[in-house]
Amino acid sequence: MADDPKIIDGKAFAANLRSKIATALSDLKKAKGLVPGLAVVLVGEDPASQVYVRNKAKQTVEVGMLSFEHRLPEDASEEEVLNLVEQLNKDERVHGILVQLPLPDQIDANKVIGTIDPAKDVDGFHIINAGLLATGQDALVPCTPVSCVMLAKDRLGDLSGVNAVVVGRSNIVGKPVAQLLLKENCTVTIAHSRTKDLPGLCRTADLLIAAVGRPEMIKGDWIKPGACVIDVGINRIETDEGKTRLVGDVAFKEAYEKVGAITPVPGGVGPMTIACLLFNTVRAACASNNIDVPEILKS
Ligand code: NDP
Repeated sequence: MADDPKIIDGKAFAANLRSKIATALSDLKKAKGLVPGLAVVLVGEDPASQVYVRNKAKQTVEVGMLSFEHRLPEDASEEEVLNLVEQLNKDERVHGILVQLPLPDQIDANKVIGTIDPAKDVDGFHIINAGLLATGQDALVPCTPVSCVMLAKDRLGDLSGVNAVVVGRSNIVGKPVAQLLLKENCTVTIAHSRTKDLPGLCRTADLLIAAVGRPEMIKGDWIKPGACVIDVGINRIETDEGKTRLVGDVAFKEAYEKVGAITPVPGGVGPMTIACLLFNTVRAACASNNIDVPEILKS
């Protein structure tokens, strides 16, 4: 599959991005003595979150950054989490703060996110960053939307004038990806559960971004021949053999026949997320030190 020109290989793209980040970090250390640091806060024992946090810490160290892991028990109070975030806001070794979601019920996630210094908000969820992005200004942008646009640009080049349809309007994927595409001068339509004639709308898309969370909802005959399809969905379904497997929001086999290019699930957008988190941390560290982002990370 790796050599198939229709397949957008997110795993390979992410590996290449991490390698560029490692080069940029080595240059930053030599030239400016700057070693960015990423702090990850995990509250509770959620097994999926534990795996994510472990992988984030591992990749952070591998590219040459400092990794700070903070684990709090499941019954930690909101005040404890807020105090920790305040402490990390003040810590000069920390340039990026990520609080792993979901948080236990007693903790208000919006309050926690709102307490992170926007300049260290590498998840891009703080309302200041959301507002900066919405008004077309420089912002720290959520990692999955950044991944989608990186993959689309890598395949299509200049996105100016491209007809893009984004299916899904969540604050963490749909809306920010639409805003990033607007910034790239796409003509953007956002679809959602009340959209009329969704298949017809999708058929107008040269670039189709699916962020719905419904297994294989987007069918092959919804796709314009030659379109570029970025499938953000991660859905676990049961197979006939009683096992489970991951599928996207797009019916991959049918879509494959029509597309110019498509991200597979798994192996498309998913593997990009941590690489983009590291990318955001480098951006945050450079901004806080008034240093230009290294050239290798600009393209
Ligand atoms: P949300 O549930 O927050 O949003 C889903 C969106 O899809 C909503 O805007 C909803 O519309 C829309 N929608 C739901 N049903 C339909 C329908 N039948 N027709 C049209 N639109 C519909 O999901 P997220 O944005 O958080 O995530 C979307 C998918 O992306 C999930 O599968 C998730 O697992 C995956 N994901 C993957 C990541 C990665 O790293 N690859 C990261 C984040 C998410 P409405 O607003 O009207 O309800």
